[in-house]
Amino acid sequence: MTADDTFDLAVVGAGIVGLGHAAAAHASGLRVVVVDRASEIVGASVRNFGHACLTAQSGQAREYAERSRELWLRYAGRAGFWARESGTLVVARAADELAVLEQWAGGEPGVTLLGAEQLADRVPVAGTVGGAFLPRDLQVDPREAAPALARHLAAEGVEFRWRTAALGVTDGVLHTARGPIRAESIVVAVGHDVDHLFPDVAEKAGVVRCGLDMLLVEPGALRAPLAAPVLTGWSLLRYSGFSATPAATALRERLSAEHPDLYELDLNQMYTQRPDGTLVVGDTHYRGLAVAPFQPESSFAALAQVTRELFGLRELPVRERWQGVYASAPEPFLIAEPAEGVRIVSVTTGIGMTTGLGLGETVVTDLLK
Ligand SMILES: Cc1cc2nc3c(=O)[nH]c(=O)nc-3n(C[C@H](O)[C@H](O)[C@H](O)COP(=O)(O)OP(=O)(O)OC[C@H]3O[C@@H](n4cnc5c(N)ncnc54)[C@H](O)[C@@H]3O)c2cc1C
Repeated sequence: MTADDTFDLAVVGAGIVGLGHAAAAHASGLRVVVVDRASEIVGASVRNFGHACLTAQSGQAREYAERSRELWLRYAGRAGFWARESGTLVVARAADELAVLEQWAGGEPGVTLLGAEQLADRVPVAGTVGGAFLPRDLQVDPREAAPALARHLAAEGVEFRWRTAALGVTDGVLHTARGPIRAESIVVAVGHDVDHLFPDVAEKAGVVRCGLDMLLVEPGALRAPLAAPVLTGWSLLRYSGFSATPAATALRERLSAEHPDLYELDLNQMYTQRPDGTLVVGDTHYRGLAVAPFQPESSFAALAQVTRELFGLRELPVRERWQGVYASAPEPFLIAEPAEGVRIVSVTTGIGMTTGLGLGETVVTDLLK
């Protein structure tokens, strides 16, 4: 090992979670290397909605999300990528959806409940009973934000070693397919693939894979552009702030009884529009130690159907379909310390874009103590 292979911090994984650690360590003046087995960022961090949905989080997730908000805006300015303080619009199409929003909004300063007409002025949907506007949420372009942050960190002196698989960690040494790297601290941020490197840790935490089906729709499909990410009643069952309200129980019962097929798909019907006008449509969820790569056409048909209904469209010109995969476990975050100076960090629910930067900063601060 030469001095070129010796760092203060080695990070495995160049997704948003790994980048969050690398950015925080670099900001603290550390010499940082990031290794990733892929040739570019191709994981969950570019396959998502780009929605920093902080207001709907609670507990630790909310704390990481609040910090991430500041970091997203800071790095968007420095690295020159698109991030908008769009807020989020939640569309309610039934009284029980509005009831969840009403119960939740009471504890959330700044959130505005909207009547049906006010909502219709902001988002091109019909048949709603009202909704809510969450002004502090952010939106980034999922295909651009993490790669732009990586380029920015590389230009600032963080070393990136692509096409370099990590094989394991022993005594301050990260073993890779291109040889060992010595580092004072090592962070393993490989998302759902944590079970490949640390199977016991992953099993103990109950980490499995969650696969998601997604669509990208051509620009101009909607009557008007989306001023903000759009959530629906299905999202009210998912994010911890909403789902903790007493009214969420009745909503779950109604949606599962009225739409057993969509409930079976574990639908989170939501939308973001990218700067080029394309519409990101999602998503379904299926979990297992492995997720089948074979995506049933019925999932995409269901996504298309609910989208046409919500926006009152005859046609939905689909440009792309893809599968996303992220780590899933009973707890939302896995942070383990298998040895001194080593941390295994995974976001184990679908909120890494919302929380990853703040999480990385928190873990690095702890490592530096
Ligand atoms: C369809 C979809 C929609 C989503 N929407 C949102 C959203 O709107 N808002 C939100 O907050 N979150 C969202 N998420 C969740 C979010 O995208 C993830 O939580 C987040 O991207 C996880 O980041 P990561 O860095 O842990 O994982 P990844 O981005 O998957 O990165 C892990 C990296 O580790 C590398 N790696 C793995 N094993 C090794 C190894 N042995 N050696 C070297 N490198 C290795 C991989 O190549 C990969 O680059 C969504 C996820 C999906 C899939």
